[in-house]
Amino acid sequence: MNVTIIDGKKIAEEIRQRVAEKIMERKKQGKSIPGLATVLVGEDPASQVYVRSKHKACEQLGIQSFSHVLPASTSQETLVKLVDDLNQDTRVHGILVQLPLPAGLDEEEVLLRISVKKDVDGFHPINIGKLAQKGRTPSFVPCTPAGVIELLRSTGVSLDGKNAVVLGRSNIVGMPVALLLVKENATVTICHSRSHNLPEITRMADILVASVGKPAMVRSDWVKPGAVVIDVGINRVDDPSAEKGYRLVGDVAFDEVSEVASAITPVPGGVGPMTIAMLMENTLRAAELAD
Ligand code: NAP
Repeated sequence: MNVTIIDGKKIAEEIRQRVAEKIMERKKQGKSIPGLATVLVGEDPASQVYVRSKHKACEQLGIQSFSHVLPASTSQETLVKLVDDLNQDTRVHGILVQLPLPAGLDEEEVLLRISVKKDVDGFHPINIGKLAQKGRTPSFVPCTPAGVIELLRSTGVSLDGKNAVVLGRSNIVGMPVALLLVKENATVTICHSRSHNLPEITRMADILVASVGKPAMVRSDWVKPGAVVIDVGINRVDDPSAEKGYRLVGDVAFDEVSEVASAITPVPGGVGPMTIAMLMENTLRAAELAD
């Protein structure tokens, strides 16, 4: 089978370009410059990298960014007060609290506190709730799941009535991906660590989305010939031949699944670049909502 490698880097770049053009247009019209505030609590190295790349993207696209870095010892009260202040700040259209928060902080309370209209991560219970309800439209959709849908659309394959299987049910990826696929009229099965007979279930999938965090878990005999496979996983595996001593792999055994699938995302270069592109799009949308 001739497989299409879905080029997330290119698709993300097109989205970023479109966002940058719309921001230029806003500036010409004298409208506000979109503003994104990030809140990073603690010193988790991966979170530091993610937040840095979000600021870099803002800079490239003409979005104003405001960085708030707090120590891991920050109290719940201080964090909530910061969110309240950002809710009031008219220069800030989007608020992103980098997850996970250090132990001892109540993530649920913090997410609930972010104004629904500034919730560019799409994790506010009202936005997630609207995603789950028929006929409702959330103000924002979580970025990685929105990126997954964009990548599926790019293949030109219709999702209507198709069997979609999502591996993983996390709040930030698996569950919102499944809800979005339902909105696209797919018939959706959600699998998790307690699911039995995974390969049997995944072999039914026309669309397979893996977001598990287990390197190369999905093998070729898990995949229906001709399926579209989206690999959200980002896993470090030791590789002494690599400069850093490791390399990144997805949740899907890319080489062998490429022999079976009709389209597949690579890792890196698939879903990864889409997350920030969708965040930039959400921030522009937040500014438009505030106009
Ligand atoms: P997570 O919160 O750890 O959730 C993992 C999900 O996989 C859970 O629902 C878990 O089931 C399920 N699972 C774990 N082991 C399983 C197994 N052996 N069989 C079946 N299901 C299993 O992870 P996440 O935040 O969703 O992230 C998943 C992966 O995506 C990670 O590699 C992460 O780095 C990557 N990621 C990438 C991006 C991106 O921008 N590309 C963004 C976010 C995450 P239970 O619910 O039963 O525990």
